Amino acid sequence: MTNELIQRLDIQFLENPNCASTDPEVFFPERGYSTKPAIKICNSCIDKQPCLEFALTINEGFGVYGGMSERDRAALRRDHKTKVFGDFASGKSKQQIAEEIGFSIKYVNKLLRERSPGEH
Ligand code: SF4
Repeated sequence: MTNELIQRLDIQFLENPNCASTDPEVFFPERGYSTKPAIKICNSCIDKQPCLEFALTINEGFGVYGGMSERDRAALRRDHKTKVFGDFASGKSKQQIAEEIGFSIKYVNKLLRERSPGEH
């Protein structure tokens, strides 16, 4: 079992993670090594969605989680923040925004808490 990964995930919500039987180093490739093997494992994992949301919520800066590298997650998170801030400022409900981006209200709330004072 990839104790390191499971501990990092601090996950009680996982049902049957594929990484439980995989070398954790696959998910934390050294610089210059491919993330594709880990992403392939994630893409067939039944816990992919909650895992990705967890990593986005805590803004995890290392490793592959939920089928995405840290760089791809950072880009997705930036896109989410732009949409969430804009949609919330224009009056959309958190529920509607959460449904549109495919994540929970809890995640939407987390992003909204990151607004700087000047942002809507
Ligand atoms: S999506 Fe990937 S990192 Fe997340 S639980 Fe599944 S196999 Fe592990």
